[in-house]
Amino acid sequence: MNRKKALVIGSGFAGLSAAINLADKGFSVTILEKNNSIGGRARQFTESGFTFDMGPSWYWMPDVFESFFNRFGKSVSDYYELIRLDPSYQVIYEGGQAMPIPAKMDALKKLFDSLEEGAGDRLEAFLRQAAYKYEVGINQLVYKPGRSLKEFASLKLLFDVVRMDVFQSMARHVRKYFKHPKLVQLMEFPVLFLGALPQNTPALYSLMNYADMALGTWYPKGGMYKIVEALGSLASELGVEIKTDHEVTSIVSHGQKITHVETNKGNFQADVVIAGADYHHVDTQLLNDSTRNYSDKYWDKRVLAPSSLLYYVGLDKKLEGLLHHNLFFDTDFAPHAHHIYTNPQWPEKPLFYASVTSKTDETVAPEGCENLFLLIPVAPGLQDTDTIREHYFELILKRMEDYCGQTLAEHIVYKRSFAHTDFVNDYHSFKGNAYGLANTLRQTAILKPALKNKHLKNLYYTGQLTVPGPGVPPSLISGIVVANEVAKDFS
Ligand SMILES: Cc1cc2nc3c(=O)[nH]c(=O)nc-3n(C[C@H](O)[C@H](O)[C@H](O)COP(=O)(O)OP(=O)(O)OC[C@H]3O[C@@H](n4cnc5c(N)ncnc54)[C@H](O)[C@@H]3O)c2cc1C
Repeated sequence: MNRKKALVIGSGFAGLSAAINLADKGFSVTILEKNNSIGGRARQFTESGFTFDMGPSWYWMPDVFESFFNRFGKSVSDYYELIRLDPSYQVIYEGGQAMPIPAKMDALKKLFDSLEEGAGDRLEAFLRQAAYKYEVGINQLVYKPGRSLKEFASLKLLFDVVRMDVFQSMARHVRKYFKHPKLVQLMEFPVLFLGALPQNTPALYSLMNYADMALGTWYPKGGMYKIVEALGSLASELGVEIKTDHEVTSIVSHGQKITHVETNKGNFQADVVIAGADYHHVDTQLLNDSTRNYSDKYWDKRVLAPSSLLYYVGLDKKLEGLLHHNLFFDTDFAPHAHHIYTNPQWPEKPLFYASVTSKTDETVAPEGCENLFLLIPVAPGLQDTDTIREHYFELILKRMEDYCGQTLAEHIVYKRSFAHTDFVNDYHSFKGNAYGLANTLRQTAILKPALKNKHLKNLYYTGQLTVPGPGVPPSLISGIVVANEVAKDFS
């Protein structure tokens, strides 16, 4: 049989998912990846006995991963072991007070009641509504390709869209239920993953609270890269060819069709190309002016999710008072948020996140040592220098030392930083963004960069800059959605 050939550019979650789904639909698939390992922003590296996940660290929405593997007669447990974290994470406040967030609903309700009378019951009501949004949002809306408004034309779905608070902000929604500043902050925290402030994020995304508090925070033993390895294995089982160290330098077309793709290792031909590399890079660097989807002006107007200043640190001692996931909300977020979203510049006193995977997993650090991943969300498009990176490292290390009551600086046996320039060099990231486009109302569904090229019949896009948006589960879904569209158009 003459199978249709598909080329997928990039081996992030979206590219891997698209490749797997296309191979399953009978396409002969090759992935071209510029880096020397697969996984994109979720790569992993090992140094001095420490194994660091480079990007995502929160495993949320386990049902999305399970149903992904189920599509191919597999299960998550065929590939990796999942551990549910309890407490899910902790929040650290000014003065060093820590609030662990229990995984069990009864304990969580008690915590809410201890801060605000009746808040436990209100949490239950809040999550009941969030469960409905999750059901409709994650099981129906995110699988829409966003090619036409008609997709949302069914009366039931329109009704759902209104019922799902698409036009109300998350900030307002949360305040209808809770008043205590700690509860408000806790309920608003998950939308920060979506790249915009709660006041600019539709309340539809309280589905993230359902993911957080009802479905739980999980960890794949060995690290988040286990998911990438699982996808790599599944892809190989389905006959996908993966070519690392293959950087696409141009997408060459004639008329309305791509004729071939040029890489640093030669040319490749295919019936259809799916671009899983950063959309902006593909649009502005790999296509010519007449075939790109959007103008520079369009791109300049996009609201990007933040970038991140990251540190991968190996310590030769155990850390006191820290859990697997720790949110250092020990300073006022308003000025930091202002410097991320409204007046982009380096923040004076940033909030930060610390992940200590060695608290759960003995395989990621040598015995008696600790594996520490630090993340400061910062505006995209900033200039990062070694001096700036060093300044922020000292600043947050001091705050950790104060909180833990330990000296840490002289116990660092490995340290690496990663910021804007690395995002650009490693992933061709637009303005050094970490999580793609922010999920604001104006950048939702059909208002996102389209998954199909307008000029070339055989070019599609997938990944965190198109539908449905940023995050590991949405990127996996993005690959499914694009594969469905390709199969529809090419069968
Ligand atoms: C620091 C950080 C923390 C995060 N935390 C979480 C989290 O806790 N939970 C969560 O769910 N999500 C998290 N995310 C978001 C999540 O990791 C991303 O949304 C997701 O990995 C994006 O996948 P992607 O396939 O769209 O893009 P990418 O992973 O960027 O994949 C694109 C691929 O294309 C390749 N490429 C680029 N240009 C070319 C070219 N010219 N030729 C060939 N290949 C090319 C790149 O090398 C890359 O491998 C985090 C992201 C970051 C950066």
